[in-house]
Amino acid sequence: SGNSAKLEIKSVTDNIGLARVTVASFAAQLDFTLSEIEEIKVAVSEAVSNAIIHGYSNDDGVITIGLEIDDEELVISVEDYGQGILNIEQACEPSYTTADRMGLGLVFIESFMDDLNITSTVDEGTQIRMIK
Ligand code: ATP
Ligand code: MG
Repeated sequence: SGNSAKLEIKSVTDNIGLARVTVASFAAQLDFTLSEIEEIKVAVSEAVSNAIIHGYSNDDGVITIGLEIDDEELVISVEDYGQGILNIEQACEPSYTTADRMGLGLVFIESFMDDLNITSTVDEGTQIRMIK
């Protein structure tokens, strides 16, 4: 049982939609409600946007999206190989932003998903792992 998939995208805004529909389509294997699928799509959008805007400062880069179904749970990872996060705890605080934005992406992910785990190394990149 279980299933897995991997999607590698270039860090351009046009690919956010691709990531959203791919994850939604994969998630359809589980018994999520429509609003849960919507929440998953928002979480993926926010994580991929962060990789593009912050990880790569809107420059070219590669983003890897890993999908797994494990024990009736959906495990999503979004990974970039960009600048990394200096202070993860601070990054997760509501309205904390380094790019003059809302500072709410990670807050949304935390509230929409059942589990969020961030690992990051400065100058090496960031991995966001979320479970629903
Ligand atoms: P919003 O998501 O509301 O547009 P934001 O992106 O600044 O604003 P969050 O998504 O909550 O807010 O992220 C908070 C901060 O964490 C970012 O401003 C950035 O400093 C840092 N951050 C988040 N993701 C990454 C990443 N993939 N690489 C490097 N830094 C990141
Ligand atoms: Mg964000």
